[in-house]
Amino acid sequence: MALDAKTNSLEEYWIPFTDNRGFKKDPRLVVQAEGVWMTDHKGGKVIDGSSGLFCSPAGHCHPKIVEAVHKAMSELTFVSPFSTNHPLAFALAEEVARITPEGLNHVFFTNSGSESIDTAMKIVMAYHTARGENRRHFVSREKAYHGVNIGGVSLSGLVNNRRAFPVTMPGIVHMRHTLTEMELKVPGQRVSGLDRAEDLQRIIDNYGAETIAAVFVEPVGGSAGCLPPPVGYLKRLREICDQHGLLLVFDEVITGFGRVGGTFAADAFEVVPDIITMAKAITNGSMPMGAVAVRDDIYETVTDKQVMGGIELFHGYTYSGHPGACAAGLAALSIYREEGLMDRAAELAPYFQEALHSLADHALVKDIRSIGMMGAVELFPGEVPGVRGVKMQSDLFWNGCHVKFTGENGIFAPMFISEKSDIDLIVGKFRETLDTVE
Ligand code: PMP
Repeated sequence: MALDAKTNSLEEYWIPFTDNRGFKKDPRLVVQAEGVWMTDHKGGKVIDGSSGLFCSPAGHCHPKIVEAVHKAMSELTFVSPFSTNHPLAFALAEEVARITPEGLNHVFFTNSGSESIDTAMKIVMAYHTARGENRRHFVSREKAYHGVNIGGVSLSGLVNNRRAFPVTMPGIVHMRHTLTEMELKVPGQRVSGLDRAEDLQRIIDNYGAETIAAVFVEPVGGSAGCLPPPVGYLKRLREICDQHGLLLVFDEVITGFGRVGGTFAADAFEVVPDIITMAKAITNGSMPMGAVAVRDDIYETVTDKQVMGGIELFHGYTYSGHPGACAAGLAALSIYREEGLMDRAAELAPYFQEALHSLADHALVKDIRSIGMMGAVELFPGEVPGVRGVKMQSDLFWNGCHVKFTGENGIFAPMFISEKSDIDLIVGKFRETLDTVE
Protein backbone atom coordinates (compact mmCIF):
# COMPACT_ATOMS: atom_id res chain seq x y z
CA MET A 1 0.00 0.00 0.00
CA ALA A 2 1.37 3.40 -0.95
CA LEU A 3 2.02 5.72 1.96
CA ASP A 4 0.35 9.07 1.50
CA ALA A 5 2.39 11.83 3.09
CA LYS A 6 -0.74 13.99 3.35
CA THR A 7 -2.62 11.51 5.53
CA ASN A 8 0.29 10.62 7.79
CA SER A 9 1.56 12.99 10.43
CA LEU A 10 5.19 13.83 9.77
CA GLU A 11 5.66 15.65 13.04
CA GLU A 12 6.57 12.95 15.57
CA TYR A 13 9.48 11.32 13.79
CA TRP A 14 12.78 13.08 14.58
CA ILE A 15 14.64 12.22 11.38
CA PRO A 16 18.38 11.54 11.71
CA PHE A 17 20.99 13.71 9.98
CA THR A 18 18.27 15.74 8.26
CA ASP A 19 16.98 19.29 8.11
CA ASN A 20 13.74 18.14 9.81
CA ARG A 21 11.76 21.31 9.20
CA GLY A 22 12.78 21.59 5.56
CA PHE A 23 12.26 17.89 4.84
CA LYS A 24 8.81 17.85 6.41
CA LYS A 25 7.68 20.64 4.07
CA ASP A 26 8.74 18.59 1.05
CA PRO A 27 9.13 14.97 2.21
CA ARG A 28 10.74 12.36 0.02
CA LEU A 29 9.28 9.04 1.05
CA VAL A 30 10.23 5.80 -0.61
CA VAL A 31 7.43 3.27 -0.38
CA GLN A 32 8.79 0.37 -2.38
CA ALA A 33 11.99 -0.59 -4.18
CA GLU A 34 13.33 -3.31 -6.42
CA GLY A 35 16.76 -3.65 -8.04
CA VAL A 36 18.10 -0.19 -8.92
CA TRP A 37 14.65 1.45 -8.76
CA MET A 38 12.68 3.00 -5.92
CA THR A 39 9.08 4.23 -5.95
CA ASP A 40 8.28 7.48 -4.17
CA HIS A 41 5.05 8.24 -2.31
CA LYS A 42 3.63 10.06 -5.31
CA GLY A 43 4.19 7.03 -7.51
CA GLY A 44 7.31 8.36 -9.28
CA LYS A 45 10.23 6.09 -10.21
CA VAL A 46 13.63 7.04 -8.81
CA ILE A 47 16.90 5.40 -9.83
CA ASP A 48 19.28 4.83 -6.93
CA GLY A 49 22.74 6.30 -7.59
CA SER A 50 24.04 5.79 -4.04
CA SER A 51 22.99 2.18 -3.31
CA GLY A 52 20.75 3.62 -0.61
CA LEU A 53 23.53 4.77 1.66
CA PHE A 54 26.38 2.68 0.12
CA CYS A 55 24.48 -0.36 1.39
CA SER A 56 22.97 -2.41 -1.41
CA PRO A 57 25.32 -3.48 -4.22
CA ALA A 58 22.98 -6.38 -5.12
CA GLY A 59 19.95 -4.12 -5.45
CA HIS A 60 16.89 -3.45 -3.35
CA CYS A 61 14.73 -6.32 -2.12
CA HIS A 62 16.84 -9.15 -3.54
CA PRO A 63 14.46 -12.15 -3.42
CA LYS A 64 17.10 -14.52 -1.99
CA ILE A 65 17.68 -12.21 0.96
CA VAL A 66 13.96 -11.71 1.54
CA GLU A 67 13.47 -15.47 1.50
CA ALA A 68 16.44 -16.19 3.80
CA VAL A 69 15.32 -13.61 6.38
CA HIS A 70 11.75 -14.88 6.22
CA LYS A 71 12.92 -18.44 6.84
CA ALA A 72 15.22 -17.42 9.72
CA MET A 73 12.52 -15.30 11.32
CA SER A 74 10.01 -18.11 11.19
CA GLU A 75 12.49 -20.35 13.04
CA LEU A 76 14.21 -17.92 15.45
CA THR A 77 13.21 -14.34 16.11
CA PHE A 78 15.71 -13.85 18.92
CA VAL A 79 18.42 -15.75 20.75
CA SER A 80 20.43 -14.33 23.66
CA PRO A 81 23.98 -14.04 22.39
CA PHE A 82 25.44 -13.81 25.92
CA SER A 83 23.99 -16.93 27.51
CA THR A 84 23.21 -19.09 24.47
CA ASN A 85 23.86 -18.76 20.74
CA HIS A 86 22.74 -20.07 17.37
CA PRO A 87 24.36 -21.66 14.30
CA LEU A 88 23.76 -18.79 11.85
CA ALA A 89 26.11 -16.49 13.78
CA PHE A 90 28.96 -19.01 13.61
CA ALA A 91 28.27 -19.64 9.93
CA LEU A 92 28.38 -15.95 9.08
CA ALA A 93 31.55 -15.35 11.11
CA GLU A 94 33.17 -18.20 9.17
CA GLU A 95 32.05 -16.72 5.84
CA VAL A 96 33.31 -13.24 6.75
CA ALA A 97 36.64 -14.66 7.95
CA ARG A 98 36.96 -16.52 4.65
CA ILE A 99 36.95 -13.27 2.65
CA THR A 100 38.89 -10.96 4.97
CA PRO A 101 42.67 -10.66 4.45
CA GLU A 102 44.83 -13.48 5.72
CA GLY A 103 45.27 -13.50 9.48
CA LEU A 104 42.06 -11.60 10.32
CA ASN A 105 39.95 -14.62 11.17
CA HIS A 106 37.98 -13.55 14.22
CA VAL A 107 34.74 -11.65 13.85
CA PHE A 108 32.73 -9.69 16.44
CA PHE A 109 29.16 -8.75 15.45
CA THR A 110 27.54 -5.37 16.00
CA ASN A 111 24.44 -3.69 14.58
CA SER A 112 25.92 -0.74 12.71
CA GLY A 113 29.07 0.97 11.50
CA SER A 114 29.11 3.22 14.56
CA GLU A 115 28.99 0.24 16.89
CA SER A 116 31.74 -1.44 14.89
CA ILE A 117 34.01 1.56 15.42
CA ASP A 118 33.38 1.85 19.15
CA THR A 119 33.80 -1.92 19.44
CA ALA A 120 37.12 -1.74 17.58
CA MET A 121 38.32 1.01 19.94
CA LYS A 122 37.44 -1.12 22.96
CA ILE A 123 39.10 -4.22 21.48
CA VAL A 124 42.25 -2.13 20.90
CA MET A 125 42.16 -0.95 24.52
CA ALA A 126 41.52 -4.47 25.84
CA TYR A 127 44.43 -5.78 23.76
CA HIS A 128 46.93 -3.25 25.11
CA THR A 129 45.59 -3.66 28.65
CA ALA A 130 46.03 -7.43 28.37
CA ARG A 131 49.63 -6.83 27.32
CA GLY A 132 50.20 -4.52 30.26
CA GLU A 133 50.71 -1.46 28.05
CA ASN A 134 49.40 2.01 28.76
CA ARG A 135 48.65 3.25 25.26
CA ARG A 136 45.99 5.92 25.67
CA HIS A 137 46.03 7.99 22.47
CA PHE A 138 44.12 7.26 19.28
CA VAL A 139 45.16 8.78 15.98
CA SER A 140 42.56 9.72 13.39
CA ARG A 141 42.34 12.17 10.49
CA GLU A 142 40.71 15.41 9.51
CA LYS A 143 37.56 14.85 7.40
CA ALA A 144 37.18 11.33 8.80
CA TYR A 145 33.74 9.87 9.49
CA HIS A 146 33.75 7.01 11.93
CA GLY A 147 30.11 6.94 12.94
CA VAL A 148 28.31 8.86 15.65
CA ASN A 149 28.77 7.02 18.94
CA ILE A 150 31.00 8.71 21.47
CA GLY A 151 34.17 6.87 20.42
CA GLY A 152 33.56 7.33 16.71
CA VAL A 153 32.47 10.93 16.97
CA SER A 154 35.60 11.65 18.99
CA LEU A 155 37.67 10.19 16.16
CA SER A 156 35.65 12.18 13.67
CA GLY A 157 37.40 14.81 11.62
CA LEU A 158 34.13 16.37 10.47
CA VAL A 159 33.72 19.46 12.59
CA ASN A 160 29.91 19.60 12.32
CA ASN A 161 29.62 16.13 13.80
CA ARG A 162 31.38 17.28 16.97
CA ARG A 163 30.35 20.92 17.31
CA ALA A 164 27.27 20.42 19.48
CA PHE A 165 28.85 17.70 21.61
CA PRO A 166 31.64 19.25 23.65
CA VAL A 167 32.32 16.17 25.78
CA THR A 168 34.11 13.77 23.48
CA MET A 169 36.89 11.35 24.40
CA PRO A 170 40.24 12.76 25.44
CA GLY A 171 43.45 11.58 23.83
CA ILE A 172 42.45 11.77 20.16
CA VAL A 173 45.02 13.29 17.81
CA HIS A 174 44.24 14.10 14.19
CA MET A 175 46.52 13.84 11.17
CA ARG A 176 45.80 16.12 8.24
CA HIS A 177 43.49 14.86 5.51
CA THR A 178 45.13 14.12 2.16
CA LEU A 179 43.04 16.26 -0.17
CA THR A 180 45.03 18.99 -1.88
CA GLU A 181 43.97 21.47 -4.55
CA MET A 182 46.89 20.40 -6.73
CA GLU A 183 45.11 17.72 -8.75
CA LEU A 184 41.47 18.44 -9.41
CA LYS A 185 39.07 16.28 -11.48
CA VAL A 186 41.61 13.45 -11.67
CA PRO A 187 40.13 9.93 -11.44
CA GLY A 188 41.60 7.27 -9.15
CA GLN A 189 44.45 7.74 -6.72
CA ARG A 190 46.34 11.01 -6.84
CA VAL A 191 49.99 11.65 -6.19
CA SER A 192 49.71 14.80 -4.06
CA GLY A 193 49.16 14.46 -0.32
CA LEU A 194 51.47 11.46 0.20
CA ASP A 195 53.74 13.54 2.46
CA ARG A 196 50.85 13.81 4.95
CA ALA A 197 51.49 10.21 6.00
CA GLU A 198 54.47 11.72 7.83
CA ASP A 199 51.99 13.44 10.19
CA LEU A 200 51.82 10.08 11.93
CA GLN A 201 55.56 10.13 12.54
CA ARG A 202 55.29 13.69 13.94
CA ILE A 203 52.52 12.62 16.30
CA ILE A 204 54.66 9.69 17.46
CA ASP A 205 57.62 12.03 18.00
CA ASN A 206 55.40 14.40 19.92
CA TYR A 207 53.51 11.96 22.18
CA GLY A 208 55.79 8.92 22.31
CA ALA A 209 54.95 5.70 20.47
CA GLU A 210 54.38 3.92 23.77
CA THR A 211 51.34 6.13 24.47
CA ILE A 212 49.57 5.51 21.14
CA ALA A 213 47.06 2.68 20.87
CA ALA A 214 45.97 2.70 17.24
CA VAL A 215 45.50 4.63 14.04
CA PHE A 216 42.01 4.70 12.52
CA VAL A 217 41.54 5.52 8.83
CA GLU A 218 38.93 5.10 6.18
CA PRO A 219 41.09 3.71 3.33
CA VAL A 220 38.97 5.87 1.03
CA GLY A 221 37.29 8.76 2.83
CA GLY A 222 33.55 8.33 2.27
CA SER A 223 31.31 10.88 3.91
CA ALA A 224 33.68 13.75 3.16
CA GLY A 225 33.17 13.02 -0.54
CA CYS A 226 35.24 10.13 -1.88
CA LEU A 227 38.85 10.78 -0.89
CA PRO A 228 41.06 8.03 -2.35
CA PRO A 229 44.41 7.68 -0.59
CA PRO A 230 47.42 9.15 -2.42
CA VAL A 231 49.57 6.49 -4.07
CA GLY A 232 51.70 4.82 -1.36
CA TYR A 233 49.93 6.56 1.55
CA LEU A 234 48.40 3.51 3.24
CA LYS A 235 51.63 1.51 2.81
CA ARG A 236 53.54 4.31 4.52
CA LEU A 237 51.06 4.35 7.45
CA ARG A 238 51.48 0.56 7.77
CA GLU A 239 55.28 0.94 7.81
CA ILE A 240 55.19 3.58 10.54
CA CYS A 241 52.71 1.53 12.62
CA ASP A 242 54.95 -1.53 12.31
CA GLN A 243 58.04 0.41 13.36
CA HIS A 244 56.33 1.62 16.54
CA GLY A 245 53.94 -1.19 17.54
CA LEU A 246 50.75 0.75 16.74
CA LEU A 247 47.64 -1.07 15.58
CA LEU A 248 46.22 -0.01 12.22
CA VAL A 249 42.44 -0.05 11.86
CA PHE A 250 40.74 0.28 8.48
CA ASP A 251 37.17 1.54 8.69
CA GLU A 252 35.70 -0.31 5.72
CA VAL A 253 32.05 0.42 6.49
CA ILE A 254 31.72 1.85 2.97
CA THR A 255 34.72 0.35 1.17
CA GLY A 256 34.13 -3.29 2.16
CA PHE A 257 32.54 -5.88 -0.13
CA GLY A 258 33.92 -4.74 -3.46
CA ARG A 259 33.13 -1.03 -3.49
CA VAL A 260 36.66 0.14 -4.34
CA GLY A 261 38.05 -2.97 -6.06
CA GLY A 262 39.16 -6.12 -4.21
CA THR A 263 36.86 -7.58 -1.59
CA PHE A 264 38.12 -5.02 0.89
CA ALA A 265 40.13 -1.85 0.33
CA ALA A 266 42.88 -3.74 2.14
CA ASP A 267 43.03 -6.02 -0.92
CA ALA A 268 42.71 -3.19 -3.42
CA PHE A 269 45.61 -1.23 -1.89
CA GLU A 270 47.57 -4.31 -0.79
CA VAL A 271 47.89 -3.15 2.79
CA VAL A 272 46.70 -5.45 5.57
CA PRO A 273 45.47 -3.68 8.69
CA ASP A 274 45.20 -5.30 12.13
CA ILE A 275 41.46 -4.69 12.40
CA ILE A 276 38.72 -4.06 9.82
CA THR A 277 35.35 -2.53 10.71
CA MET A 278 32.44 -3.18 8.38
CA ALA A 279 28.64 -2.82 8.13
CA LYS A 280 26.21 -1.75 5.36
CA ALA A 281 26.85 -4.20 2.47
CA ILE A 282 27.46 -7.10 4.87
CA THR A 283 23.68 -7.70 4.60
CA ASN A 284 23.25 -5.76 1.35
CA GLY A 285 21.74 -3.16 3.70
CA SER A 286 18.73 -5.35 4.31
CA MET A 287 19.11 -5.80 8.07
CA PRO A 288 21.05 -3.72 10.61
CA MET A 289 24.42 -5.36 11.11
CA GLY A 290 28.08 -4.52 11.49
CA ALA A 291 31.19 -6.56 12.21
CA VAL A 292 34.76 -6.16 13.38
CA ALA A 293 37.35 -8.57 11.99
CA VAL A 294 40.51 -8.82 14.06
CA ARG A 295 43.95 -10.33 13.68
CA ASP A 296 44.11 -13.75 15.28
CA ASP A 297 46.68 -12.86 17.92
CA ILE A 298 44.55 -9.91 19.09
CA TYR A 299 41.71 -12.37 19.74
CA GLU A 300 44.12 -14.81 21.37
CA THR A 301 45.68 -12.14 23.60
CA VAL A 302 42.35 -10.74 24.81
CA THR A 303 40.65 -14.12 25.31
CA ASP A 304 43.67 -15.38 27.21
CA LYS A 305 42.88 -12.99 30.06
CA GLN A 306 39.72 -14.07 31.80
CA VAL A 307 38.09 -11.47 33.94
CA MET A 308 35.01 -12.09 36.09
CA GLY A 309 33.06 -15.32 35.56
CA GLY A 310 35.37 -16.43 32.80
CA ILE A 311 34.27 -13.61 30.49
CA GLU A 312 37.20 -12.16 28.57
CA LEU A 313 35.72 -9.04 26.98
CA PHE A 314 33.03 -7.14 28.86
CA HIS A 315 31.45 -5.85 25.69
CA GLY A 316 28.62 -6.86 23.37
CA TYR A 317 25.14 -5.95 22.22
CA THR A 318 21.82 -7.66 22.88
CA TYR A 319 21.41 -7.87 19.11
CA SER A 320 24.99 -8.93 18.28
CA GLY A 321 24.63 -11.64 15.63
CA HIS A 322 20.82 -11.41 15.49
CA PRO A 323 19.41 -14.43 13.60
CA GLY A 324 17.61 -12.30 10.99
CA ALA A 325 20.71 -10.20 10.31
CA CYS A 326 22.94 -13.29 10.12
CA ALA A 327 20.57 -14.91 7.62
CA ALA A 328 20.62 -11.71 5.57
CA GLY A 329 24.43 -11.60 5.75
CA LEU A 330 24.82 -15.22 4.65
CA ALA A 331 22.41 -14.65 1.77
CA ALA A 332 24.14 -11.40 0.71
CA LEU A 333 27.61 -12.96 0.70
CA SER A 334 26.39 -15.95 -1.30
CA ILE A 335 24.73 -13.60 -3.83
CA TYR A 336 27.96 -11.59 -4.20
CA ARG A 337 29.79 -14.84 -4.86
CA GLU A 338 27.23 -16.60 -7.08
CA GLU A 339 26.39 -13.55 -9.16
CA GLY A 340 30.07 -12.55 -9.37
CA LEU A 341 29.09 -9.06 -8.23
CA MET A 342 32.51 -7.94 -7.02
CA ASP A 343 34.04 -8.85 -10.39
CA ARG A 344 31.18 -7.09 -12.09
CA ALA A 345 31.93 -3.99 -9.99
CA ALA A 346 35.57 -4.07 -11.10
CA GLU A 347 34.49 -4.39 -14.74
CA LEU A 348 31.93 -1.61 -14.53
CA ALA A 349 34.17 0.81 -12.60
CA PRO A 350 36.03 2.33 -15.61
CA TYR A 351 32.72 2.99 -17.40
CA PHE A 352 31.22 4.55 -14.28
CA GLN A 353 34.24 6.74 -13.63
CA GLU A 354 34.41 7.96 -17.22
CA ALA A 355 30.70 8.82 -17.12
CA LEU A 356 31.14 10.68 -13.84
CA HIS A 357 34.12 12.64 -15.12
CA SER A 358 32.12 13.73 -18.17
CA LEU A 359 30.58 16.27 -15.75
CA ALA A 360 33.98 18.01 -15.45
CA ASP A 361 33.08 20.73 -17.97
CA HIS A 362 30.12 21.99 -15.93
CA ALA A 363 30.62 25.49 -14.55
CA LEU A 364 29.35 24.52 -11.08
CA VAL A 365 31.70 21.55 -10.70
CA LYS A 366 34.82 22.20 -8.63
CA ASP A 367 36.23 18.68 -8.39
CA ILE A 368 35.40 15.10 -9.28
CA ARG A 369 36.99 12.22 -7.39
CA SER A 370 36.46 8.53 -8.00
CA ILE A 371 37.73 5.07 -7.30
CA GLY A 372 36.12 1.73 -8.07
CA MET A 373 32.35 2.09 -7.95
CA MET A 374 32.46 5.15 -5.74
CA GLY A 375 32.77 8.79 -6.69
CA ALA A 376 31.96 12.34 -5.67
CA VAL A 377 31.12 15.47 -7.60
CA GLU A 378 32.03 18.50 -5.52
CA LEU A 379 30.18 21.68 -6.44
CA PHE A 380 31.37 25.22 -5.85
CA PRO A 381 29.54 26.40 -2.75
CA GLY A 382 26.82 29.01 -3.15
CA GLU A 383 26.55 32.03 -0.86
CA VAL A 384 25.65 29.87 2.14
CA PRO A 385 27.73 26.66 2.25
CA GLY A 386 25.69 23.44 2.08
CA VAL A 387 22.50 24.99 0.70
CA ARG A 388 23.31 24.09 -2.90
CA GLY A 389 23.81 20.44 -1.92
CA VAL A 390 20.51 20.25 -0.03
CA LYS A 391 18.65 21.76 -3.00
CA MET A 392 20.42 19.50 -5.53
CA GLN A 393 19.55 16.40 -3.51
CA SER A 394 15.87 17.31 -3.44
CA ASP A 395 15.61 18.53 -7.06
CA LEU A 396 17.47 15.48 -8.30
CA PHE A 397 15.13 13.16 -6.42
CA TRP A 398 12.09 14.79 -8.00
CA ASN A 399 13.88 14.44 -11.32
CA GLY A 400 13.96 10.67 -10.70
CA CYS A 401 17.42 10.04 -9.26
CA HIS A 402 18.75 9.55 -5.73
CA VAL A 403 22.28 10.72 -4.96
CA LYS A 404 23.31 11.32 -1.35
CA PHE A 405 24.78 14.78 -0.74
CA THR A 406 27.07 15.75 2.10
CA GLY A 407 27.72 19.47 1.99
CA GLU A 408 28.59 20.34 -1.60
CA ASN A 409 29.52 16.74 -2.48
CA GLY A 410 27.16 14.51 -4.40
CA ILE A 411 28.35 11.02 -3.49
CA PHE A 412 27.80 8.33 -6.09
CA ALA A 413 27.88 4.62 -5.32
CA PRO A 414 25.97 2.79 -8.03
CA MET A 415 24.76 -0.72 -7.38
CA PHE A 416 26.95 -3.47 -8.80
CA ILE A 417 23.92 -4.85 -10.65
CA SER A 418 23.62 -1.56 -12.58
CA GLU A 419 23.65 -1.70 -16.36
CA LYS A 420 25.73 0.85 -18.28
CA SER A 421 22.44 2.47 -19.30
CA ASP A 422 21.61 2.93 -15.57
CA ILE A 423 24.93 4.71 -15.04
CA ASP A 424 24.20 6.96 -18.04
CA LEU A 425 20.78 7.73 -16.62
CA ILE A 426 22.15 8.61 -13.17
CA VAL A 427 24.86 10.89 -14.56
CA GLY A 428 22.49 12.35 -17.18
CA LYS A 429 19.89 13.24 -14.58
CA PHE A 430 22.60 14.77 -12.39
CA ARG A 431 23.70 17.07 -15.24
CA GLU A 432 20.11 17.94 -16.13
CA THR A 433 19.36 18.94 -12.54
CA LEU A 434 22.65 20.80 -12.18
CA ASP A 435 21.68 22.89 -15.21
CA THR A 436 18.63 24.13 -13.28
CA VAL A 437 20.53 25.06 -10.10
CA GLU A 438 21.37 28.68 -9.35
N1 PMP B 1 32.27 4.51 9.29
C1 PMP B 1 32.15 4.92 8.04
C2 PMP B 1 33.37 5.00 7.18
C3 PMP B 1 30.90 5.27 7.52
O1 PMP B 1 30.80 5.72 6.27
C4 PMP B 1 29.76 5.15 8.35
C5 PMP B 1 28.37 5.50 7.87
N2 PMP B 1 28.23 6.15 6.68
C6 PMP B 1 29.95 4.71 9.66
C7 PMP B 1 31.21 4.40 10.10
C8 PMP B 1 28.79 4.61 10.59
O2 PMP B 1 27.91 3.63 10.22
P1 PMP B 1 26.41 3.60 10.79
O3 PMP B 1 25.69 4.76 10.18
O4 PMP B 1 25.90 2.25 10.33
O5 PMP B 1 26.49 3.69 12.26
